[in-house]
Amino acid sequence: MKYSNTCPKCASTEILKIPGRIASNGGTNFIVLGFLKYAKVTRYVCENCGYSEEWIDRKSDIEALKRKFGRKDKEK
Ligand SMILES: [Zn+2]
Repeated sequence: MKYSNTCPKCASTEILKIPGRIASNGGTNFIVLGFLKYAKVTRYVCENCGYSEEWIDRKSDIEALKRKFGRKDKEK
């Protein structure tokens, strides 16, 4: 959906992009990385059937997630 702009479930091309942000009044979507550090998660929602996908858009956030949640046995 992020790249094709087409819903994989119903083939609709009406896709909402909901940016990840850190707020206390709704629309919040993020993963906690550490003290005051977050990875923002962007949601893509099909307007027709409601199917949704979530993407970490920033490459640096993906690297931080790998450091925090990656398999420990890789580091040996
Ligand atoms: Zn759909």
